[in-house]
Amino acid sequence: MDIAKLPGIGPGRAKILAEVGISTVEDLTNYLPRDYDDRSEIKTISMLTPGITHTIRGTITSEPENISFRASKIMTKIRLEDETGELTLVWFGQPYLKKNFKKNDSYLFTGRVSENYGRLQMESPEYEKINQEVETLSSGRIVPIYTLPKGISQKMFRKWMKAALDLGVGEQETLPNSVIGDLCSRKEAIQNIHFPDSDSGFYAARRRLVFEELFFIQLSLLNIKEAPQVGISIGGDISEFLPKFPFTLTRAQQSVLCEITSDMKSGWRMNRLVQGDVGSGKTAVAACAAYLAINAGYQAAIMAPTEVLARQHYRQFKQYFDDTVLLIGSLSTKEKKQAQKAIHDGQAKMIVGTHALIQESVAFDNLALVITDEQHRFGVNQRAALIEKGQDVPHTMLMTATPIPRTLGLILYGDMDISVIDALPPGRKPIETYCVNSGYRPRLQAFMAKHVNEGHQVYVICPAIDESEDFKSVTSYAADLQKNLPDIPVACLHGRLKDKEEIVTAFSSGKTPIIVSTTVIEVGVDVPTATLVVIENAERFGLAQLHQLRGRVGRGNAQSYCVLVTDSKSEHSKERMQAMEQTSDGFILSELDLKQRGPGDFFGVQQSGLPVFKIANLYRDIEILKEAQKAAASVVGLIETDGIIVM
Ligand code: ADP
Ligand code: MG
Repeated sequence: MDIAKLPGIGPGRAKILAEVGISTVEDLTNYLPRDYDDRSEIKTISMLTPGITHTIRGTITSEPENISFRASKIMTKIRLEDETGELTLVWFGQPYLKKNFKKNDSYLFTGRVSENYGRLQMESPEYEKINQEVETLSSGRIVPIYTLPKGISQKMFRKWMKAALDLGVGEQETLPNSVIGDLCSRKEAIQNIHFPDSDSGFYAARRRLVFEELFFIQLSLLNIKEAPQVGISIGGDISEFLPKFPFTLTRAQQSVLCEITSDMKSGWRMNRLVQGDVGSGKTAVAACAAYLAINAGYQAAIMAPTEVLARQHYRQFKQYFDDTVLLIGSLSTKEKKQAQKAIHDGQAKMIVGTHALIQESVAFDNLALVITDEQHRFGVNQRAALIEKGQDVPHTMLMTATPIPRTLGLILYGDMDISVIDALPPGRKPIETYCVNSGYRPRLQAFMAKHVNEGHQVYVICPAIDESEDFKSVTSYAADLQKNLPDIPVACLHGRLKDKEEIVTAFSSGKTPIIVSTTVIEVGVDVPTATLVVIENAERFGLAQLHQLRGRVGRGNAQSYCVLVTDSKSEHSKERMQAMEQTSDGFILSELDLKQRGPGDFFGVQQSGLPVFKIANLYRDIEILKEAQKAAASVVGLIETDGIIVM
């Protein structure tokens, strides 16, 4: 039902509501409060405590007046009494309020109480006329608070919500009888999530809605998992390929590779997530898998989240495979056409690219393997789009450095098999990490110069605020630094630059040994001779991201350093900096990150491949998640052993 059908909503307001995703009455009831205000306890005036927000019920004893003070300021003032005492109500700069109140009428008021020359007063209270017939929505109860677009008041919104609920919208039961158990009905839940009649009513409602949300997600994951797809069977062995690497694979790389080869020759489609901390050597594993596909006469593709990374992969894969092509957005039209043609007629065997790769104009000849690097940077939809490119569904392999807490993994990748590269190549020294305040900048510059003089490279990362500011902060920082270190060429890198590739090449070759960059270099960039990364305004980054950025160094055998610069005094940021100093274990850091920021923000807002949760909070609701999983499994008819669902 169209939202404009509700009383009080005309085309103008309907348009405003549409901006927050509400266009039907159903959308409205699904729009949940962001918070609640407990106004269920009505106090008498004699019980009020200054400094605290209270709700009172009383009768107006004076004609409302508007009093001018300090030139243009107007104060609206009313006296109110109940059986125990008197108090003054004041509002500032809202003279029109005067006509809303009449002497001798009774109202509920909610507001902060203060003491003014020994007399109690309430400033700018919310109010509601007491009317026996209409149930009160804004006082005398637990009151919902919504995130609202400009121009819509909480009061209005509550009225509309009540009207929608009175129509019975959203109360249809959605869960099968067999799983409802002791959960409350949907009708009760939807009423109580908006207008809780008590604390316990609210908790029951929330529990039920969280369960419902997670149950349906689990169910769809099980459905995907339930139906394995036939895949191209690819055999062969990689021993001939291995000498292409200047190192031998670690045991961890080998064991993951074993899982991959057995997937690829199984006759079923591979659907595997390869998780390995920064620097664990995922690229080499990807190259081996690609070799198997190409050696069997098929095409393989690897998709990277940034052009910088795609180009880096291209340089590398070109050394392994003769017929490697690059396909990224910034190629000229002619180059793109050429690449597309080679991909289409099968001349290109190894295809390296960014999102441009998945755009419609690209048709593959016989794609058998799709590798997605740094998976957490892609949305779920992009992942699906590339998979659909193959005629027979290609094997897929996702690679991520973000260690995924198990709970989250179940949701995000519940449909996949997971391999972990659980060790770093030998000889790596832990990165020494220090947190300093901005007073250390001069000394830090000397430290940078020392690294450069020893033949190493240095990254300086400035936070991404928005594109225009980014640009300013890195360019001015780089200019300053250049002034202070006149003998060392300093480069500057941000998303807007056209020649990112040349800048990165100049950096990795040591021509410009210091690079001041935004987070465009966050993922994947591999310059093994870089030994220092300085992260400015480190408090602006989440832990998962700090860990990624730190992972740009420590890739060779020299001792590497990470310096976090921040002046923030907030407890949260202190906790993050300490965690960075104390551990290099990405898994511990990601758990802490999840705890601090909540999963919605886990991969950063824009990079999130997560389903968006309306109500569930995976950190708080792990127990409900487990129940929902069991219930979903029971519906699909799977067996459970030792509390773990066999999928
Ligand atoms: P990530 O897992 O972060 O993508 P990369 O694949 O970029 O890591 O590898 C990081 C660095 O480690 C690269 O310079 C790579 O050449 C090197 N490397 C990979 N595997 C090994 C190995 N088995 N022994 C030594 N160095 C390795
Ligand atoms: Mg990588």
